Amino acid sequence: MEKTMRKGLLQSIDLYEYILETSVYPREPAPLKQLRIATANHPWFVMSTAPDAGQLMGMLLKLVNAKKTIEIGVYTGYSLLLTALSIPDDGKIIAMDINRETYEIGLPIIRKAGVEHKINFIESQALPVLDKLLQNKENEGSFDFAFVDADKDNYWNYHERLLKLVKVGGLIIFDNTLWGGTVTQPEEAVSEHRRVSRGFIIEFNKTISTDHRVEISLTPLGDGMTICRRIC
Ligand code: SAM
Ligand code: CA
Repeated sequence: MEKTMRKGLLQSIDLYEYILETSVYPREPAPLKQLRIATANHPWFVMSTAPDAGQLMGMLLKLVNAKKTIEIGVYTGYSLLLTALSIPDDGKIIAMDINRETYEIGLPIIRKAGVEHKINFIESQALPVLDKLLQNKENEGSFDFAFVDADKDNYWNYHERLLKLVKVGGLIIFDNTLWGGTVTQPEEAVSEHRRVSRGFIIEFNKTISTDHRVEISLTPLGDGMTICRRIC
């Protein structure tokens, strides 16, 4: 069994394996597969976006004709490369991460795939980058899509800023919103390293469910992915 398969939320590993083997891996673009394999032995490989969630994300990017996107949390670049492969040749991604070293693991594969020119990687905390974008009025409502996959305590801060940057009808996706299934477990049963972010995720899920500026769907793919569509 490949390492990625341990990450699913489904009760049956066999069922998750079935989904991956029958409908995800056979259609996974070759560069993404290479990136997944290049990441598999990295100590933090579990951070990589789950391929089943990635497959849906690729389809959503195409459904909204995404051309200008934001990515918060790059790691080795699975979701970044997926986005770069899904948008047109003149599309642009502003990608931010505090760690350039991990981005550089995936960079040769991104280069080989011929999509590096679409990526503006910024090594930085994400919040100040978003705030800087917002200083220029022209950026308001100019993005089609954003993927958020970084520090969970800032999810709401990212949401408020992205709601200004993403256009009405555009999508914002928040990853890991079921946090390994711990959102329904009693706090004392959750391992210490997961406990703090679990609290932020629970709070985020509660708050976003009452946010009428977006339509939402919390999909149980990968580690849970909340898809938000800006409606006003
Ligand atoms: N989307 C990536 C993928 O598909 O491989 C996985 C991202 S990983 C779960 C989270 C990343 O967020 C890490 O690379 C980490 O360095 C970055 N990160 C954490 N806090 C951050 C912050 N405040 N601003 C920007 N990046 C941050
Ligand atoms: Ca994630």
